[in-house]
Parts: sequence; C-alpha cells; structure tokens
Amino acid sequence: MSASGTGSENKCGLCGKPAVIRLSNSKIRLCSGHFIEEAENRVYAHIRNNEMISPGDRILVGLSGGKDSTALLLMLHSYLSDFKEAELVAVTVDEGISGYREETVEAAVNLASELGIEHHIISFDEIFDTNLDKIVAGKDVRACSVCGVLRRRALIIAAKRFGATKIATGHNLDDEAQSVLMNLLRGDLPTLMQDTSSGYPGYFIPRIKPLSVLFEKEIITYLLLRDFYRDLPECPYAGTAMRLEVRIMLAELEQRHPGTKGHLMKFQETLKQSCSEKPKGKFYNCRICGEISSSEVCQVCRLLKHE
Ligand code: SF4
Repeated sequence: MSASGTGSENKCGLCGKPAVIRLSNSKIRLCSGHFIEEAENRVYAHIRNNEMISPGDRILVGLSGGKDSTALLLMLHSYLSDFKEAELVAVTVDEGISGYREETVEAAVNLASELGIEHHIISFDEIFDTNLDKIVAGKDVRACSVCGVLRRRALIIAAKRFGATKIATGHNLDDEAQSVLMNLLRGDLPTLMQDTSSGYPGYFIPRIKPLSVLFEKEIITYLLLRDFYRDLPECPYAGTAMRLEVRIMLAELEQRHPGTKGHLMKFQETLKQSCSEKPKGKFYNCRICGEISSSEVCQVCRLLKHE
C-alpha cells in the first residue's frame, strides 16, 4: 500500500472520486468510502472462510487500546449481528509498564464504552502478584519475551473468568510475517507449524486473528479515515525486541521486493499443508499451577521462579 499522489490518475478505480490509497501488490486506488468497505470485506471474508466465529460464541477481544486492537473491536462489533447470538467481551491487560499503559488503558475504556461493549481490565499485579517493570528491573532479560508469555496466560485466565469461547487478537499481516521469519531464524519448527485456531479439546481456548489479512499501514489508514486513530505512546521496551530488527529488515525487503511478506505467509501455509504429520508435542499439566504445558513446569512458573 502506498499513499496516493496528486494528478489525474489519482482517482478511485471504482467511482472516480479522489483516491486516498493504492492497495498493496495492486495498481488499484480507492477513495475513502471504498477503501473502508474493501478492508472490512477482506476481514469479513477471512473470518467466514476460516470459520472463525460460530453462532453462540462469546469472543474475548484483547483490547490493548492501540491501533490494531481498536480496529479489531470496531470491525467485530460491526459484523456481530451476522453471527447468531455471538457476543463480544473486551479485556485489557495492564502489564504494569510505567508511563505507557496509563494512556492506552484510558483509550480502551473510552472505545469500549462508546461501542457499548462489556469491558474488563486485568493486571499482572492482580494475577501474578508482580508486574513487568518489577520482573525485568536490573536483569538481562528481553522484556517482550516475558511480556508475551505472561500476557498469553493472562488472556487465558480472563477467558475462563469471563466465560469466553474464543480469544481474538489484533495481529496484522506484518506481525504474522515477522513471526514466520523469527521462527525460521530461531529454527523453531513446532511454533512455525502451530495451529492455535482450533484449540485443543479441554485445554486450549481457540485463538483467532481476523486482521491478519491487513497490512499495518492499511489499519492506520482505516482508523484515520474513520476518525479513530489516536497518537499513543510507544512501549519503552519495544526497542529491545528481536521483532524490531526483523520488522526493519522485512520493511526494507518489501520495499525492494513487493510481495515478500505475503510470500512468507504463503510459505507457512504451504508448509503446514504439506506436512501430514505435525511435529509431535507432549502435553502436561504444570505440576505447580496445573495449566497445560509442553514441559512439566510451564513457562510462566519458570519465569516467575515458582520452581
Ligand atoms: Fe510487552 Fe514488548 Fe509489547 Fe511492550 S513492546 S507491550 S514489553 S510485548
């Protein structure tokens, strides 16, 4: 996707009004109204084609208050009437990151209230009796790795607490392509092949990622056009993540070789389909907290040194 320039060619390919965007990997330019419609239709088709929502689902939306989760809640809210008796419950996880979370939590509260959606805030302090700032203070650990593990657990706890049948997160196409490359670079085949969309009977709650067909820039454009874009602070730990390096590398590659991110996603899909046997994983109930785990003591208990 690129911003449209000026000139006679800068017209919407569908109605001739001034274009606001040119779609990625395509020569089509769209005006504001047609871009909003196209983005929503693309996400809706992705949900339908992958049967992400079933009648009667109660979907927990991880609402950080940032751009991706804001777009996710807006879109799911507008589709909901198409799915019989499905409900949304938004949950904001406060990791305890000083100077960052306050504003995003406020944005999440305001959005949920504006849309009339049930909303809860849960914190690491409440669940784990500590928070991210305290855990990483003075230690040589990657904050994002710790944060990711604890946040996933927090959402599972919230899903059980609020009776959710699925967890929806705002991962976009850029996030997903970065994850594929990171797993390749780490040689982590099991994670690369993991399918979290169907859950695991009696254990995992299925996770869905409806926005994984939209580029980050498309999400920003969508929010700007709908007047829901807020300039919020960035997490102070973001710069320490390997993801940032991969993100920069992929952005440069996409610029020089358009379609790179899409090819990575396709590679993962093809790999999953061509391997009839998934890498075998054994599941345990963590002997400390009882949660499902790939080892006798789960990552959360190891992180929190409950061993
Ligand atoms: Fe957590 Fe890292 Fe995201 Fe900050 S940037 S909220 S530490 S995952």
